Amino acid sequence: MQFTELPLNKSILKAIAEARFQRPTLVQEKTIPLVLAKKNVIVAAQTGTGKTAAFALPIINLLFDKQDAEKGAKTIKALVVTPTRELAIQILENFKSYSTYSNLRTTAVFGGVSLEPQKEILAKGIDILIATPGRLIDLQIQGNIDLSAIEIFVLDEADLMLDMGFINDVKKIEQLTPKKKQTLLFSATIPEKIDKLAKSVIKNAVKIEINPKETTAKNIGQLLYYLPKKNKTDLCLHLLRNTIHGKIIIFRRTKFGVDKLEQTLLKNDYKATSIHGDKSQSIRNKAIEDFKNKTATILIATDVAARGIDITNVDAVINFDMPNVPETYVHRIGRTGRAGKSGIAFSFCSPDENIYIKNIEALLEKFIKVIEDHPYPINKPKHKKKQPNTISKHKKSRKSEASKKKKKRWY
Ligand code: ADP
Ligand code: MG
Repeated sequence: MQFTELPLNKSILKAIAEARFQRPTLVQEKTIPLVLAKKNVIVAAQTGTGKTAAFALPIINLLFDKQDAEKGAKTIKALVVTPTRELAIQILENFKSYSTYSNLRTTAVFGGVSLEPQKEILAKGIDILIATPGRLIDLQIQGNIDLSAIEIFVLDEADLMLDMGFINDVKKIEQLTPKKKQTLLFSATIPEKIDKLAKSVIKNAVKIEINPKETTAKNIGQLLYYLPKKNKTDLCLHLLRNTIHGKIIIFRRTKFGVDKLEQTLLKNDYKATSIHGDKSQSIRNKAIEDFKNKTATILIATDVAARGIDITNVDAVINFDMPNVPETYVHRIGRTGRAGKSGIAFSFCSPDENIYIKNIEALLEKFIKVIEDHPYPINKPKHKKKQPNTISKHKKSRKSEASKKKKKRWY
């Protein structure tokens, strides 16, 4: 689905295009039409699935037509309650960017900073307020916030709100808002207590549940590093020294890459071994045996060589090269985190591989967490319209020469 297929107005679509979002995520696709139809909704979807825009976009759309009708100071029409200051700031940034082409005014109030500047902004009149529970109640008690004209009430990250002990505050806030309103609840999970809360504050809600793809086990942490291709070996060594321990599988796309990395790791005194299609069966068997009994703690492999081999109890997987087939990513990371154990997958993405990440994220229906704090950072890519997968002339000619020589398997 495209954003243009959703009943959002032109100025919002323009702002979305500028945010370089190509298409709505599944949770956005399902939630936006319901919110626009003024339904109450309860949404359960994993972190990173784009829940913020799922409420921010339709709220801006709903308030858009009213923005100039009001006489005198603006009154708060939408209230978003979220548990932490960081989330409040993030949500504010989202609203600001999507409402660039409107006259809607949005602000955020949260604790840990002085009250006065927040009071001043509120006094000027606000359409959309984002707030953490404690500060909201403080400001309300002091008479700086009028919640009597709220039309849309959003409870964001409800499960976190529960974990942080805000449930009673949330109930209190809800009672300060009018009875007749639209209520939206967003959460990564809906534990029993949230279900109870939802039942007590939301009537006739439509439930939307986005289940994580079964293919990706929940207990696998996934981390993504953007870096120049030439620094991949350096980052690998850096992480092996500082971060990644235990039994590790490193996936590479080519046999040549596998051999090269094995040499480097052996030189650096790591107990590494490898498997790929050019090695004899007996050598491959020995490598797997060594890895199983921990004579070797690092196994470097191509995808095809690793297929079907039962290697469990792996602590970490490194995607040294990103796979061009998204399902391969899921197979690779599934090597860790088996049998209820937690595992972690590290992915190294150089600029020429950005397209693979996009396809993987589309398959997973979520975004992989990007680690920016590492020694070889490059900017996180913006989603480009044209994909960077065109082979350069130089590469093309090399490729055709190679294929003339001999059609040799590269895996
Ligand atoms: P959640 O609240 O579900 O954890 P967020 O709303 O914080 O997720 O979104 C996670 C990330 O995904 C943010 O960086 C956001 O900008 C990005 N994002 C959201 N929707 C889209 C989309 N349709 N296309 C691309 N990126 C998106
Ligand atoms: Mg969120």
